[in-house]
Amino acid sequence: MKRTGIFFTYFQGERLRDFPQALAGILDKENVSYYDAVYDSHDGLYYLVPVSEELLLKVHSQDMVQRVKMTGDYESALYSAGGTVQAANEIWQEGIDNAFVFTSFGDHHAGRNFYGGMCYFNGAALAIAALKERGVKRLAIVDTDCHHADGTRDIFGSDDDVLHMCLCYQDYFDEHNNIDIKIPPHTSDEEYLALMRQEFVPRAVAFKPEYIFWEFGYDATQGEYGDKGLTRDSHLKLAQLIKGVADKVSNGRLITILCGGSGRSLATYIIPRIINCLAELGRRQ
Ligand SMILES: [Zn+2]
Ligand SMILES: [Zn+2]
Repeated sequence: MKRTGIFFTYFQGERLRDFPQALAGILDKENVSYYDAVYDSHDGLYYLVPVSEELLLKVHSQDMVQRVKMTGDYESALYSAGGTVQAANEIWQEGIDNAFVFTSFGDHHAGRNFYGGMCYFNGAALAIAALKERGVKRLAIVDTDCHHADGTRDIFGSDDDVLHMCLCYQDYFDEHNNIDIKIPPHTSDEEYLALMRQEFVPRAVAFKPEYIFWEFGYDATQGEYGDKGLTRDSHLKLAQLIKGVADKVSNGRLITILCGGSGRSLATYIIPRIINCLAELGRRQ
């Protein structure tokens, strides 16, 4: 079984109101570690560490960091991105194999000197900066949120050591290991998975990333604000596919980061299933 870390920050709002309670039956598993920003430490529970300002400045400009400080969300943004950085560090130290990171703000609209769309700091980019300092060379990001990862592209657009595939509304694009795959409206789960098998799997296998980051958004689900026609069950199938690739090419090192999506019942349905998949809890032991 894989060892899975769950990184959780509390924040206000509807979407995750059922959490962490919705993870009952998962959090107490022997191969699951739970990292939380709020609750006091007790057996089996670890503190979440906010990202350091030193690391922030390796990805974002001083000016942008100052601007985020003025918003009133600075501390929360540090914990939100910190979960992804800590997940990467824990995997690097071989404490866990893979991770699911609950963010309070997203990642992928945060660039070097700009932020927006409920994203302040780019957790994946910060984690990649930290890993590169430790000698990790090749990394991949696959983004299934329905919006374009303009911030992540701004940071890694000319970096040949980072494979970035974004599935959204952008027309087909493929340069310097930056790939956009257009997802039209009314796409079926099978069509989406077929695109992943055609476009993502062979590139990831050829690229051989040491870590895979999955920017997981469920806003493309039917009835969500970015509805592309996907059913609520599509995300588990994506998790199985992406985890399969990670197990094959990156020794299982996979960091799943919560991005867009608003529905509380969808979150409660989808996320425990993804974590079950990551931790291989559905399998016979
Ligand atoms: Zn995109
Ligand atoms: Zn989105």
